Amino acid sequence: MAYSYEAPVSQSLFDRASVVTPGGVNSPVRAFRAVGGTPRFMVSGTGPYLTDADGREYVDLVCSWGPMILGHSHPEVIAAVQEAVSRGTSFGTPGEGEVALAEEIVARIEPVEQVRLVSSGTEATMSAIRLARGFTGRSKVVKFAGCYHGHVDALLAAAGSGLATFGLPDTPGVTGATARDTVVLPYNDLDAVRAAFAAHPGEIACVITEASPGNMGVVPPADGFNAGLKELCAANGALYISDEVMTGFRTSKAGWYGVDGVRPDLMTFGKVMGGGFPAAAFGGRADVMAHLAPVGPVYQAGTLSGNPVATAAGLAQLRLLDDAAYAKIDAVSAELRSLVGDAFTKEGVAHTVSSASNMFSVFFTDEPVRNYDDAKKQEAFRFTAFFHSMLEQGVYLPPSAFESWFVSTAHDERAVERIAAALPAAARAASEATA
Ligand code: PLP
Repeated sequence: MAYSYEAPVSQSLFDRASVVTPGGVNSPVRAFRAVGGTPRFMVSGTGPYLTDADGREYVDLVCSWGPMILGHSHPEVIAAVQEAVSRGTSFGTPGEGEVALAEEIVARIEPVEQVRLVSSGTEATMSAIRLARGFTGRSKVVKFAGCYHGHVDALLAAAGSGLATFGLPDTPGVTGATARDTVVLPYNDLDAVRAAFAAHPGEIACVITEASPGNMGVVPPADGFNAGLKELCAANGALYISDEVMTGFRTSKAGWYGVDGVRPDLMTFGKVMGGGFPAAAFGGRADVMAHLAPVGPVYQAGTLSGNPVATAAGLAQLRLLDDAAYAKIDAVSAELRSLVGDAFTKEGVAHTVSSASNMFSVFFTDEPVRNYDDAKKQEAFRFTAFFHSMLEQGVYLPPSAFESWFVSTAHDERAVERIAAALPAAARAASEATA
């Protein structure tokens, strides 16, 4: 596909980056491989806007993949960071900031009785499954195809969607032994979970699921799915782990737990709670958390865990996220969903705007999407054309048809108008696209 616009400074930065970094990026999806073209190197962000190295401004619908829920450079978050940084950047000792952030999390999310801070969502899920294995004395982990929990070896297995499929290593470097302990099931299928428990009696330590998946596009849990998981785990002596790295503090004040009220044994968090810095967490039942070192035998640690600058940013951000903030984000999301849907309808493009609270994405199909296999049936080539038209018109979308779009409190009328103005041509590009 040829692109009618250029980004020479980004291109030269990408060329330099590609010499010293594999693929020129520090996280693969940033490389635009799914959509082609030159990844934009961003130099600054203010409110709902990002500016790239070529001086072009974009309305940002990625929000750093979720964290920037107040928009970029929110003055109160920046002030909290500046204040924290003026006192030093890391002490390797306990500090009050991490206590305050843990208290804020515990106060917001009732099932979290105790929480441990880490630096990334990957570390949070990795630690949570280690803890579940240590607590139960079992080795197998159930996960769902299409759910992403970070690049933890045991959780990268996503082979097939057959009943109680044994995971095969999806990526070289994950050993067969690790993958064999991972049971990958189709999402939204409680019968498959029942069958897995029957096939592996007394062996399953935990079921981990995205509270509401956003990593195969947005595919919310069917009514009763999360409650069913919880019940099956309880009946079979396994822990129910809800991964709220993406949904936590975003889909409501108490994340997805605030939406469906299903009480997990353990939960994982990241993104929003770090205010744009590397801060993440796992937490839940106090009797389970008591198995962690230094109280219990399950080891887990981190040089920068609870970093004072990251915790200051996260706390400042969470304290600004009150009911009014969520009402605003929900309203902007609803407005955009309707504008996007209308634009595709007008151009006769088969589509489904799928949402979970204020997270949403578009599937280029009008068939129901309940799991990863359904999601993969969409006409993803239409997204490529749509994405580049939006980019050219100054709207920055996630560079993949299988990612959630994110909005913030900073997405005001002006930002929405710019998106609305770009949609007709982009929807037309999608309708004219060929595979
Ligand atoms: N869990 C979920 C649901 C995620 O969406 C992600 C990242 O996108 C992770 C875990 C991993 O988090 P991180 O990228 O901070 O390691």
